[in-house]
Amino acid sequence: MKTHIVLVLATTNTGKTEEIRALLEGFPVQIKNLKDFGPIPPVEEDGETFEENAYKKASHTARILGFPALADDSGLVVEALEGRPGVHSARYAGKEASDALRCARLLEEMAGIKDRRAAFECVLSLATPTGAALTYEGRCEGLIAERPKGRNGFGYDPVFYYPPLKKTFAEMRRKEKNRVSHRGRALSALKDEFDKVLIWIQQQMPIQEKWICFGGDHDR
Ligand code: IMP
Repeated sequence: MKTHIVLVLATTNTGKTEEIRALLEGFPVQIKNLKDFGPIPPVEEDGETFEENAYKKASHTARILGFPALADDSGLVVEALEGRPGVHSARYAGKEASDALRCARLLEEMAGIKDRRAAFECVLSLATPTGAALTYEGRCEGLIAERPKGRNGFGYDPVFYYPPLKKTFAEMRRKEKNRVSHRGRALSALKDEFDKVLIWIQQQMPIQEKWICFGGDHDR
């Protein structure tokens, strides 16, 4: 029987966890998330790039829990706004703002701007407790719509128009979005080389010494 490597997702999100579990089905890996452990100190997502933030979350989780960890960071990069909201996508309209308010703020800022080009970007970081990490990236190019459309998804989905399918992300079913989305593409890059990734993890993990105690009767 193959031994299963434990991989901790640096999230408490059940949806993300199920998605990754399904994607990596058949590989000798046991997917856990932060809910399987006691609370760990939070990490400040103050990096200047998606890669920095993803690595921060993954390495922090791996160091604290002693297992390899996978984290993602993503956001919307708008050409006419010089890459904003980018790493600040979640806080673009204030920390407590709703998705609807974030979309409204974006459309307001884009009012009258002809160049609507934008891209969702996602970086996945898989780190081991030693700090070593692998990085996978995914990008999906589209346009900022003139007005929100569709009810599915989350975040900026209603205002992100994907020309090849002539729909916003919020008009797509989950599977349809996953096939073309930034996160879907990054995860598929990870899956494509997951056999090699598992070997790499085994090489990076600290060797656990097994101490034999002489003294107890059962050890003799
Ligand atoms: P996180 O990487 O999941 O923390 O995402 C950061 C922010 O980027 C989210 O709060 C959303 O506002 C935005 N975002 C990331 N991915 C998506 C997506 O697939 N659709 C819509 N918004 C997204």
